[in-house]
Amino acid sequence: MPNLERLSERTQKIINDESENIIHTYGRLPIVITKGEGMKVYDVDGNEYLDFLAGIAVNNMGHCHPEIVEALKSQIDNLMHISNIYYNIPQVELGKKLVELSGLGKSFFCNSGAEANEAAIKLARKYGKQISSKKGFIKSGEVISMEHSFHGRTLTTITATPKPKYQEGFEPLPTGFRYAPFNDIEALKEMVSEHTSAIIIEPVQGEGGIYPVDKEYLKEVRKICDELDIILIFDEVQCGMGRTGKMFAYENYEVVPDIVTLAKALGNGFPIGAIVAKKEVAEAFQPGSHGTTFGGNPMACATSLKTLELLENQLEHTSEIGAYFKSKLNELKDKYEFITEVRGLGLMLGIQLTINGSEFVPKMLEKGYLINCTSDTVLRFVPPLIVEKEHIDSLINSLDEIFSKIE
Ligand code: PMP
Repeated sequence: MPNLERLSERTQKIINDESENIIHTYGRLPIVITKGEGMKVYDVDGNEYLDFLAGIAVNNMGHCHPEIVEALKSQIDNLMHISNIYYNIPQVELGKKLVELSGLGKSFFCNSGAEANEAAIKLARKYGKQISSKKGFIKSGEVISMEHSFHGRTLTTITATPKPKYQEGFEPLPTGFRYAPFNDIEALKEMVSEHTSAIIIEPVQGEGGIYPVDKEYLKEVRKICDELDIILIFDEVQCGMGRTGKMFAYENYEVVPDIVTLAKALGNGFPIGAIVAKKEVAEAFQPGSHGTTFGGNPMACATSLKTLELLENQLEHTSEIGAYFKSKLNELKDKYEFITEVRGLGLMLGIQLTINGSEFVPKMLEKGYLINCTSDTVLRFVPPLIVEKEHIDSLINSLDEIFSKIE
């Protein structure tokens, strides 16, 4: 196991090189990962870790799943990239698959979650202006996002993410954004108008601390959107792709969005982002409206197609093992007063602490587990969906050992 107080020479050298040559945008833990396999990752010194973060909800089928690796390799042998001014088969196949799985109409491909949200907001504004013009006015294009949400790090997506730490110093920000308290329907009703183009919601808030949206609230939001021609966007970048035990988190809520945004686990580690929109909404984009060089590239799409095929068979296990994991976390909650709540769906789980949780992260790392702390007081667990009871039991034992030393 690593000793974070005494790093190996190899590790220290890489950390020094990083420090000199890479812009400091990440607070990193001092280990260097060189290999991943299933639930496990290995560092440069040969230490082994159980990964309860999955690259933060990315490697849902585990690290380097052999069938996914094979799908990517065989695509690379044939075609890595081709401009979007031509057709490519994996992109068309993936579009078909996402439409079939989501029940929505049409897809657009990009390369990250932030980019997917950018595309969704642009599409919603364009659609909103078109539909309102038929009714004799032009929507101003207002977008409402939720307090404690997270939508990415581009200028538009930090604007949709109402936390000062993401926004400060980057002004002027794009205009036309308002923030509603999460799960508060009365507040939302006061905020919406015929000028609202979009409401964007994470069905389970991730960075904000693992907060699932309330079912009745979401149903009411859907009604408001229908009444005022507002596009309902679900940001499923973190909670989608099987994470909650359903392919799309919104399937837990029986509420269908107008646009869903996806990334992270869509490529199981290969960069890809996507939106899937209802057909009539999707039509608001025409050739020239939007685009990106690498969006829908054959490598990403071939990887994603195989990932989706595997994820479809992983959903039942995710629900079952998620329930087991939650019950184990609840046992810890019953034992320790500083744990006040266990939240989440499927394998997107968090424990709410009354104390700062960040000190537990390096302690767990030294015991061989990757976990993290979000919103200062929430320990987050988003393991690969292939996690088994034995992995969970060993994590729980280690947490228990560490917690037992807290006064
Ligand atoms: N939306 C949500 C809900 C996210 O959790 C994240 C990433 N943590 C993003 C958007 C941004 O995705 P990316 O980092 O791929 O741009």
